[in-house]
Amino acid sequence: MALPKQKTSKERRRKRRSHHQAVTASIKNCSQCGSPQLNHHVCPTCGSYAGREVVEMESPKKTKSE
Ligand SMILES: [Zn+2]
Repeated sequence: MALPKQKTSKERRRKRRSHHQAVTASIKNCSQCGSPQLNHHVCPTCGSYAGREVVEMESPKKTKSE
């Protein structure tokens, strides 16, 4: 089994792990239906992306923009 030549110091280990923090999901409201959606994802409610419908939804919800 390969072994590290040197013990990783506490400082070096902590510096490496300083980039391991969790990030919150970036959520915005859909420009078409106004429901919350993840950025750079197709809207799960109305199936639109970049201002046009790209996925046909089976049961489109009635919203204030319609
Ligand atoms: Zn939408």
